[in-house]
Amino acid sequence: MMVKEDIQLFDIDRIRDEFPTLSREVYGKPLIYLDNGATSQKPQVVIDSIEHYYTFDNSNIHRGVHHMSQEATTQYENARVTIQKYINSPTPEQVLFTTGTTGGINLIAHSFGELLSAGDEIIISTMEHHSNIVPWQMLCERKGCKLNVIPINDHGELIMSEFEKLLNNKTKLVSVTHISNTLGTINPIKHIIDSAHKVGAKVLIDGAQSIQHMSVDVQALDCDFFLFSGHKVFGPTGVGILYGKTAVLNSMPPYQGGGDMIDRVTFEKTTYNVLPHKFEAGTPNISGGIALGVAINYLANQDLNAIQKHEHELGVYATTELNKIEGMRIIGTSKEKTSVISFVVEGLHPFDIGTLLDKQGVAVRTGHHCTQPLMDFFNIPGTVRASFTFYNTKAEVDIFIKALNRSINMLR
Ligand SMILES: *Cc1c(COP(=O)(O)O)cnc(C)c1O
Repeated sequence: MMVKEDIQLFDIDRIRDEFPTLSREVYGKPLIYLDNGATSQKPQVVIDSIEHYYTFDNSNIHRGVHHMSQEATTQYENARVTIQKYINSPTPEQVLFTTGTTGGINLIAHSFGELLSAGDEIIISTMEHHSNIVPWQMLCERKGCKLNVIPINDHGELIMSEFEKLLNNKTKLVSVTHISNTLGTINPIKHIIDSAHKVGAKVLIDGAQSIQHMSVDVQALDCDFFLFSGHKVFGPTGVGILYGKTAVLNSMPPYQGGGDMIDRVTFEKTTYNVLPHKFEAGTPNISGGIALGVAINYLANQDLNAIQKHEHELGVYATTELNKIEGMRIIGTSKEKTSVISFVVEGLHPFDIGTLLDKQGVAVRTGHHCTQPLMDFFNIPGTVRASFTFYNTKAEVDIFIKALNRSINMLR
């Protein structure tokens, strides 16, 4: 019955067949993978692309006159164009390859950070991932800037009236997550971007949890930076994307120095290359960039509306079933949320629940999810987090809930 419902939306069996890890077992039980917020599984086309690159095309890019180098360069640059189109960036040159969301935020904190001076202010929020907190703290220490934090309410929603109060003409950057990796909250980023622009601040959107669940149009959003990680959007680890507005990127000094980012080097003076190369020093993760293009292309060929409907239904169903459990407290009850569900069970430690779920084949994440200030706000050490994506099924939710009840009974 459950499976049939899924098929009406889109062909879930076909989709699951495309992800080889989904059919493996752990401890002799079928894997129920509910840790998509940490990293997603990879479709066969992405895996094949990496194997193909190293089997047939391996070569350094932007350098060689030889045939293989040119082929590799073309594939890498084509991936950039695929990603440019997917996020509707005006040009491919403003789509920079990074090592991931963390790498991209650090690039901006260093490079854009060079433009800031003592007394300037940066705004983040209570629900940020550590990678959108710590680089700004380091910058504030280097430069004498001030870090302001948007508070949240008990549902895990930003208190927008407080955000408006933090904005002033010293605010140089607002850096917030599109979707919370811990709470699933979808933040009103368009509103944030427009308000920040009114005081002349630039806006960074951490899209690590959004790009795989919804369409993103960086021009419609009008954000100054948009970042995400390859590995959370069905691509490989070690590669990510930093989109930036051309004028902002051009105003920033280079981040790392080395090959590819230069125009001309002499011992007296070095001049820098144009975008995107200015920010892409050294040999990049070539196969990773190409495979990320394949992953984005894979996503582009899915029915995004059907995906969203399916994920929403999974989230609502799992939440309803979880709420039937005695002592259940769901952390993150925003009206606007994705199918990321964090919870604690009264009297039980999240780690113990996660360990017992694992023994039953159910992979969830436990802990603080790189959001310790958020845990402090809710006054908890951590949560169990089940994060769903489009290849998950209602049947998996049923197995998860059954395994959870069994775990709780064992621990009580
Ligand atoms: C995962 C995540 C990051 C960090 O991404 P990395 O791939 O580990 O660099 C940043 N922000 C959010 C919201 C995340 O979920």
